[in-house]
Amino acid sequence: MTKSESIRRAKETVEARRVESIAAYERRIAEVSAAVPEFAEIDRELQKTGPKIVAASFGGGDSKAEIEAIRQEYEQIAVRRREMLVRHGYAPDYASIRYSCEKCSDTGYVGIDICDCLKREIVRNFLESSGLYSLTKNQTFDTFCLDYYEKNDRIVMEQNVAFLRDYAESFDPSSSANLILIGATGLGKTHLSSAVARRVIERGFFVVYECAQGLFSEYEARRFRTNSYSASEEGEDIDRFVDCDLLIIDDLGTEITNRFSISCLYYLLNQRLIRHRPTVISTNLRSTELRSRYEDRIMSRVFGEFIPLQFSGSDVRMQKVKKTKSES
Ligand SMILES: [Zn+2]
Repeated sequence: MTKSESIRRAKETVEARRVESIAAYERRIAEVSAAVPEFAEIDRELQKTGPKIVAASFGGGDSKAEIEAIRQEYEQIAVRRREMLVRHGYAPDYASIRYSCEKCSDTGYVGIDICDCLKREIVRNFLESSGLYSLTKNQTFDTFCLDYYEKNDRIVMEQNVAFLRDYAESFDPSSSANLILIGATGLGKTHLSSAVARRVIERGFFVVYECAQGLFSEYEARRFRTNSYSASEEGEDIDRFVDCDLLIIDDLGTEITNRFSISCLYYLLNQRLIRHRPTVISTNLRSTELRSRYEDRIMSRVFGEFIPLQFSGSDVRMQKVKKTKSES
């Protein structure tokens, strides 16, 4: 899903709740009306009073007093209606609309502000579209353990965690920096970059998280179909890799590097730089390896426009394995 699609679907979900709330209300009205004939009568009476208030509002003349009189009449009928429900063993609000979200009556908006219920739906769709579902849910800043890093490594990693936490908390697509996380396997790059992604999504931004290999295969498949990188040329929605608020490319260097993947990477980094959309890259390659693998035009982009964050320590995954073995 692209960003606009995720938002559209979230709105549809909230709208569907509204439709269902009203349909359920109508079913209850029909049920009570069938069981209690005098309820049907009082309900009709109430339905007639509503439009009268509207008519009086546009009536001019002494409308204020008129409106107040009708409003009181409406209130009295509503009270009688509620009492009738209770008398017949129903809950007093049985014949009222029960919205899933009372705050916005399932419209998704409170005034001109987006309601929390719609925000939650958007975040859920963003999370689903982000590619983060494939990663474990507990990769957050709070679950990142510094105990596996010693001495100087620990100081470096403490700084990295603090930096990335602040990056996520203050993320703004138009002004946040591009980052490249450099370091050997098992030093927590994936954990911390997915923690960044999660937090940035929670804050309402559209994030795409993809490993380098997956990213290039998607472009490869697209080129196969259309002979182009750009999805928009084939009338599809805008490319989510180019368009997202934050793109995280995990494990750059693990893909099969060829002329296609190199020009693809250049295209992508360039498009995002032009649009002022930040990218976070993580890689196991050292800067010399990066230089020998990718062309100068990419490297000048990466080193010129990205803040490097060096990860250090000894493989945390291996330490964890050793620890569990020695404990058992
Ligand atoms: Zn709401």
